[in-house]
Amino acid sequence: MIAAKAKFRGARKIEKAAGFRIPDSAFHPAFLEAITSQVNFNYLDATLRNQILQFLHDFLRCECRERPLCGCPEKKFVTKVIELREDGLDHHEISAFLLDEYSIDLYPADILSFLEDTVHMLEAIEDISRLQGEKALSQKTEKHIREIVR
Ligand SMILES: [Zn+2]
Repeated sequence: MIAAKAKFRGARKIEKAAGFRIPDSAFHPAFLEAITSQVNFNYLDATLRNQILQFLHDFLRCECRERPLCGCPEKKFVTKVIELREDGLDHHEISAFLLDEYSIDLYPADILSFLEDTVHMLEAIEDISRLQGEKALSQKTEKHIREIVR
């Protein structure tokens, strides 16, 4: 899964502020727990603080009891990557955006192969929904495919 490849570039700085070791994988349980509860943000520079706040705002706003270990952050991140592509950004631009906005490092090549996999999955869904006569789903899927591959 693409979220597992996302590294948090500012992780070492957060580690210093927190005073204990944290992983640099942005969606690792220990990382998510650290940024949701255990870090004093006042020790971080303004840029990094804003990136963490944006990360929390965009990926960690759910009401699940197991939050942040409920799976929603990863799903929201995957959705965000697809949305950025559908907004017209290519894989290089998505990579640059993620770094700037969230301090997330993700290689353009990984983003590209993720988008290709997504298209293959959507094509399979489209085929099945067409065969099953699920016209609305088939059209919706086709629209997403077009917006990703253009
Ligand atoms: Zn959740």
